Amino acid sequence: MTTLVHEALSATAAIRATLVARPGGGFLVAPVARGGTFSREQLSEEQQLLTNSIRDFWRSSVIPRLDEIEHKKKVEVDGKEQPLAIVLLRQLAELGALGVDIPAAHGGLDLDKTTSMLLSETLGGCASMGATVGAHIGIGTLPIVFFGNDAQKAKYLPRLLTAELVSCYALTEPNNGSDALGGRTNAALSADGTHYVLAGEKIFITNGSWADIAIVFARHDGGPYSAFIVDLHSPGVTRGVEERKMGIRGSSTCGLTFADVKVRARTSSATSATPRGSRSTSSTSAGSSSASATSGTRNMPSI
Ligand SMILES: Cc1cc2nc3c(=O)[nH]c(=O)nc-3n(C[C@H](O)[C@H](O)[C@H](O)COP(=O)(O)OP(=O)(O)OC[C@H]3O[C@@H](n4cnc5c(N)ncnc54)[C@H](O)[C@@H]3O)c2cc1C
Repeated sequence: MTTLVHEALSATAAIRATLVARPGGGFLVAPVARGGTFSREQLSEEQQLLTNSIRDFWRSSVIPRLDEIEHKKKVEVDGKEQPLAIVLLRQLAELGALGVDIPAAHGGLDLDKTTSMLLSETLGGCASMGATVGAHIGIGTLPIVFFGNDAQKAKYLPRLLTAELVSCYALTEPNNGSDALGGRTNAALSADGTHYVLAGEKIFITNGSWADIAIVFARHDGGPYSAFIVDLHSPGVTRGVEERKMGIRGSSTCGLTFADVKVRARTSSATSATPRGSRSTSSTSAGSSSASATSGTRNMPSI
């Protein structure tokens, strides 16, 4: 037994070393370390406590409302109508569920991938909410965790982990799905270098209807692909109609069109992305673009 535990711990250490050596999604392509078999009994007390509380919430607050979620019901909160899915997302945030992959320096729990996996497993009982939460904490947040600069992390991560801001990820275009890097959305740097002008169309975006910010992929002045954090309340952003899907109907899937949307070229740590109906706390005017570019690779200087 001691040998098995020792082997499992060595395997965990080897996986951790791999993650450090290959950040971002590198663990997907890294060779699997040799080691003992991991079983649920080896989960830490912290992992069990967190996932048990999330599972209890899921069973008591989400599963009984599956039908309402599938019909994208809206509920009134503080006198405003909000999608039930987003209200539940914010309740989930109160349990710490949205901060599992966020560094402690920005208020997150900074836990391991096993805990992330346990969280995803727990969300499985309601696929629509799973998609909503997954798009927010995964593809909508991790690009900032992995590739954002310090100012971008400081500005967005604390508000993403409470779901004050809801995020999405906009890569797919009408002519580019599997061929993801063939997209045509363009980001042209202004003559004075202060902002980019984003033009293009994205489709099938999970959380598209209710997200406040989007990680948008675009060609950097017609050249290489990069990613931009875009305030979806900016002038020039249009959300398409909801797709009528065969399943996960309670998740939002729609297009986003960017018609010369101004995206600031640098992020200041002052907050300015504005959730619908709230006021901006920054010096920029409410509704103007608060976004800035994230680097496409870890070593690329932030723009
Ligand atoms: C519910 C839902 C949510 C989504 N959410 C998001 C989101 O949040 N953000 C986002 O950016 N995108 C999102 N997408 C888009 C999704 O990533 C794309 O649908 C996916 O990349 C496939 O692209 P496509 O639909 O254009 O299919 P296509 O690329 O046209 O592929 C069609 C078929 O052809 C096959 N095929 C494609 N290329 C080849 C090839 N070279 N050789 C052999 N076979 C090939 C594919 O396997 C597939 O079976 C979402 C899609 C759905 C349905």
